[in-house]
Amino acid sequence: MSDRKKTDRCAFCGRTSDQVEMLLQGGGSSICVDCAVRVAEYVRSIFGDEALEETGAGKPKATACETLSVTPKQIVAFLDQYVIGQDAAKKSLAVAVYNHYKRIGEAFSRKSAEDTRKKSGAEKVLDAEKSALEALEIEKSNILLVGPTGTGKTLLARTIARMLNVPFAIVDATVLTEAGYVGEDVESILSRLLQAADYDVARAERGIVFIDEIDKIARKSDNPSITRDVSGEGVQQAMLKLLEGSIVNVPPAGGRKHPEQKMIPVNTTNILFICGGAFEGIEKKIAQRLNTSVVGYGAREKKGNIDMDNLLRYIAPQDLRSYGLIPEIVGRLPIVTYLDPLDRDALRRILTEPKNALVKQYVHLFELDGVKLTIEDGVLDLIVDTALKYKLGARGLRSICEAVMMDPMYELPGSGRKTFKITVEYARERIDRFAGTLS
Ligand code: ADP
Repeated sequence: MSDRKKTDRCAFCGRTSDQVEMLLQGGGSSICVDCAVRVAEYVRSIFGDEALEETGAGKPKATACETLSVTPKQIVAFLDQYVIGQDAAKKSLAVAVYNHYKRIGEAFSRKSAEDTRKKSGAEKVLDAEKSALEALEIEKSNILLVGPTGTGKTLLARTIARMLNVPFAIVDATVLTEAGYVGEDVESILSRLLQAADYDVARAERGIVFIDEIDKIARKSDNPSITRDVSGEGVQQAMLKLLEGSIVNVPPAGGRKHPEQKMIPVNTTNILFICGGAFEGIEKKIAQRLNTSVVGYGAREKKGNIDMDNLLRYIAPQDLRSYGLIPEIVGRLPIVTYLDPLDRDALRRILTEPKNALVKQYVHLFELDGVKLTIEDGVLDLIVDTALKYKLGARGLRSICEAVMMDPMYELPGSGRKTFKITVEYARERIDRFAGTLS
């Protein structure tokens, strides 16, 4: 058996990487998450909680990112189970997240080496240790996801956080204001992360924050010298200190600061910020730039290769600047990637394919009542057509499904029925009624 094959299988249960949620590798072999949990439980049952505490295994949340043992490909494979399409974004995100936690891991081992040296009182530092201490510091890279609303930006960020088992917080940039104005101070972002980490500061400091609608705090005017712009540039300035990594005093309960409130210092150096925004109209800026850049060498071929229907894929930092993000923020979001609009095929797949797909959820809900639910294929097409017709996107799929399922969800429990089939006629009647409420 080759080495590759050996690590592609759990050494305990023998299942391969495509049969398990995640395969952790180490020492030339692998273990799947299910077996890892079982092993931890076994150790706990014999030696008690303390045994895991000592090894750190009792705190998987902290160790998951300190010794990231998944590859970017495995991260993408995990995302594929929940997010349809968006291959470019998945790849960039996987590489960025992998590098981010590798960087934290390195900093962590460097710190441990330093602690050991201090503890042992050694005057002389071993050569190897010294080189570790002086190792090149890898700069942190936050990420920007650009794409139409409802195409999976939040879902991607949330899924990655779940995979890594790190605290995760979502904030909407539009509610943030500069200190002193009505609204939330940027520190409230960290309050939410602290809450998500159950106030374990060390865990929060390795968490992920998703800042949605970052495009809405773009400077409204191209002229940077206009009088203070409460909702735009000032917030970007305030946000900068979080993104670049500093120690921020956070009001524990969020909201506004009170002078007498005890603050919690949080170091944002290792917090990964993933920003998202639709950046409506940015295509114009991209087109402008591509046109100017094609004047010059290789002009003709370049123009011919440009996919004018999907200009977002060419997004570059200078477009974000011309859209109104300040250069310092753009500099702190070095990884920029895009999401595709969801077409008919993607919406159809979203209904049935993700691990927690809507159709699977309904089938399961009915199963709990002892009813076997079947849905005609045409019903799914009808749901997708309605979402497209009324421009409801992936978010709309849920409300359309609810409209179809409401009656059976009300009638079937306790009715004694064992099967139920949703036919196209049945669905059409309910969808038409639902559509009537839209127009
Ligand atoms: P965004 O953050 O881009 O506005 P979300 O990630 O919040 O959009 O998507 C809204 C909902 O639509 C998700 O919770 C999910 O149910 C569904 N959805 C959107 N895009 C996808 C996708 N690519 N794959 C699977 N589900 C998706």
